[in-house]
Amino acid sequence: MRLVLVGPPGAGKGTQAEFVAAHLCVPKISTGDIFRANVSQGTPLGMEAKRYMDAGGLVPDQVTIDMVRDRLAESDASDGFLLDGFPRTVPQAVALDKMLADLGTSLDLVMELVVDDDEVIRRLSGRRNCRSCGKVWHLEFDAPVRDGICDRCNGDLFQRDDDKPETVAERLRVYGRDTAPLIDYYGPQGKLVGMDATGPVEDVTVRAIDALRSYGA
Ligand code: ADP
Ligand code: ADP
Repeated sequence: MRLVLVGPPGAGKGTQAEFVAAHLCVPKISTGDIFRANVSQGTPLGMEAKRYMDAGGLVPDQVTIDMVRDRLAESDASDGFLLDGFPRTVPQAVALDKMLADLGTSLDLVMELVVDDDEVIRRLSGRRNCRSCGKVWHLEFDAPVRDGICDRCNGDLFQRDDDKPETVAERLRVYGRDTAPLIDYYGPQGKLVGMDATGPVEDVTVRAIDALRSYGA
């Protein structure tokens, strides 16, 4: 299964991607995670990406597309994958179709997580990430037992710089301008399934897996 998750920042893509990828036995490929790993390792890619990420903008298409092409060439992605956060622009979607066509394959499904702006802001403002294992928590909806400490690995929790209110507004604007047009790109291809992503995490996961089942996955 070759699947893409689309949705505004904070919709729950990363959270659902974990469960759905495990259910499908495919790797979860998150461009945001790959960029953040490069930023923390101080690679040239990370240094370039950071400028855009900190401002709430998108990393340029060509940089992102080259990075995804390399990742999809790895052997674990040969039989399927779940892309979280890519494509985020129509040129990225066109490039992905071309990459897959060159490999003799194509995307199966694009799942859109639908959440309104107020909920997105609630989810982003309470998001906390573990510095050691990367697990994502939420101060209100999925709070760790001890303040600021990850229950899974005892690591420190931090708030992403781009989750601060001044950057969130810009990210939502960029989503509407650059990413929402993907709906019109994938809709006519018959590959788009829209899904209500409100309510408890487990309910959304059940909805996602049911939707996949009805598409034969
Ligand atoms: P969120 O989970 O909140 O939607 P991500 O972790 O997916 O955010 O991405 C964080 C940042 O990384 C984005 O705001 C953007 O700067 C950069 N980024 C991630 N994926 C892409 C992409 N496909 N194209 C361009 N920039 C990206
Ligand atoms: P995205 O990858 O789309 O940016 P995340 O998966 O990181 O979104 O989720 C954003 C925040 O919202 C996280 O703190 C996460 O714990 C929380 N969250 C995710 N799904 C839900 C949900 N169904 N209900 C409440 N909070 C959620």
